[in-house]
Amino acid sequence: MVKLLFFLIISNQLLMAQDFDFANRLYYDYEQYCESALTHRRFKHSDIKPLIERLKNNNKFRVEEIGKSAEGKEIYLLTLGTGKTKVFLWSQMHGDEPTATMALFDIFNFFSISDSFDPVRKELLNKLTIYFMPMVNPDGAEIYQRRNIYEIDINRDAVRQQTPEGILLRQTFDRLRAHYGFNLHDQSTRYSVGNSFKSAALSFLAPATDYGKSIDSVRTNAIQLIGELYKTLSQFIPGHIAKYADDFEPRAFGDNFQKWGTSTILLESGGWKDDPEKQFLRKMNFITLLSAFRSIASNSFKNESLEVYDQILFNDKFIFDVVLRNLKYSRDGKSYLIDVGINLNEINFNNGSAFYYKSSIEDIGDLSVYFGYKDYDFTGMEIIPGKVFEKVFSSYDELLSLDIKELHKNGYTSVVLQGGNLEAPFTELPINILISGIDNSNEFMLGKRADFTITQGDEIRYVIINGFPIDIKNSIGEIKNGLIY
Ligand SMILES: [Zn+2]
Repeated sequence: MVKLLFFLIISNQLLMAQDFDFANRLYYDYEQYCESALTHRRFKHSDIKPLIERLKNNNKFRVEEIGKSAEGKEIYLLTLGTGKTKVFLWSQMHGDEPTATMALFDIFNFFSISDSFDPVRKELLNKLTIYFMPMVNPDGAEIYQRRNIYEIDINRDAVRQQTPEGILLRQTFDRLRAHYGFNLHDQSTRYSVGNSFKSAALSFLAPATDYGKSIDSVRTNAIQLIGELYKTLSQFIPGHIAKYADDFEPRAFGDNFQKWGTSTILLESGGWKDDPEKQFLRKMNFITLLSAFRSIASNSFKNESLEVYDQILFNDKFIFDVVLRNLKYSRDGKSYLIDVGINLNEINFNNGSAFYYKSSIEDIGDLSVYFGYKDYDFTGMEIIPGKVFEKVFSSYDELLSLDIKELHKNGYTSVVLQGGNLEAPFTELPINILISGIDNSNEFMLGKRADFTITQGDEIRYVIINGFPIDIKNSIGEIKNGLIY
C-alpha cells in the first residue's frame, strides 16, 4: 500500500513536470535536429527547395506545391500527422523575417528522426494534423525585404487579396479551417520588454478580432496557450518575453484568422545579445512550437489562467545597439555631461544576399531609461569627434599596408583616398574611407555616423568607428566594417 501510494505520488509529479522536462530535453538535444543547410538569415528559396524536395521521399510527410509567388517561385504546404485537431503554421510572409522558417526545418528534422522522443512523436501525430507553409513570401526573401515584389505588404492583404502570396495564404486557410494557427514573424531587435532593461527575444500576441479587443472562446484558447508557453520559455529566456501591440488591424491575416474561428498566435522573434544571425532565437522557436504542439495535443493549456497573458509586459523601445554613458562633451567653451545612443543599421548589399552596418547617432543626453546591447560607462572620460588622417592616399592598395591600429591609437577614425572610385559603400578595413572632395567633417549630430575618440586626461582610451568601440589599451573590440563616403 505504501509502495503504491509512493508510486502514485511520483507518477503524478512526473506528469506535472512533463512539459518543462520535454522543453528541457529539446533544449539539450537541439543540435541533433538543427538543419545544417541553413546557417544565417539571408537564405533563399533555392536553399529551402532541395530540403522540401527531399521530404517528398519521406512517407511521414505529405508535400504539395500549392501555388507560385509573383515571380514564379513554388510555395509549398507540408502536412504531418493524422489527428483530428488541425494546426496551421505559416512563416516569412515578410521576406526579411526568416527566423521561424529555419526553425520549421529543424522541426521537420525532429519528425524525420527516430530516437527517445518516439513516444511523443507518435502521440503528436495521432492527435494532430500539422500543416506548414514555410516562406510565404519567397520573392521578398530573395532580396531580403519585408514586402512582396510589388512592394505590397502581404500582411495588409488578407481582405483585399491582390498579391498571389496573400491569395494563397487565404485559400489555404479557407481549405484547412484549422483549430490553431501560428503566424510567424520577426520584429525589431530593438524592442525591449516594457522598461525592464531586457530585450524582447520573443513576443507573443493573441490578435484582437475587433477594435474593442473582445475575448471570445477562440481568442481565449490563444491567450491560455500563450500563458503556458510563456512559463515554459521563461526557464530559458527569463524576462525576455513580451507581448506585441494588441491593436486590431482589420487588414492583417492574424486578426482575421482569429475572427474567422482559428485560435491564432502571433510569434515574433526579436533581439538577443550577440545573436545577429538569430540562431539562438531559432532554437527558441523550435522549442516554442514543439511545446505548443504538445500542449494542444494534451489540452494542458486549458488549465492556464488568463492572468498570465494579461501580466506579460508589452513591447517597448528602450534599446540602442550601443550606449556610451557619462561622457564629458565640450562645446562653445562649456562642458556637458551626456550619454550617446547609437544604432548599427543593417543595410542590404548585393541584392540582399549580404549587408553592412551603417551607424547613426540616435540620441544625445540623459539616456538612463535606455540600455544598449553594448553598454559602456565612460565616467571621467571625454568624447571628441574622430579625426581624419592628414595624408591623402592615391590607391586602395596603399591603405592595405597602413598600420591602422596605430591610427586608432592616435584618434584617427577616417582616411582620405584621392579620386578613388570604390564601388562598395563600405570597407572591411577597420576605418572609414573618405573619397576626397566629399565633405569630410565628422559632425557630432543626430543622424550622423558615430566616429569618436574617448579620452581620459591626455590619453586616448577608445575609438568609436562607425559605431563600433575599440578599447585601445586592451585591444578589445571588433569593427565589422568601416564606411566609404
Ligand atoms: Zn512581420
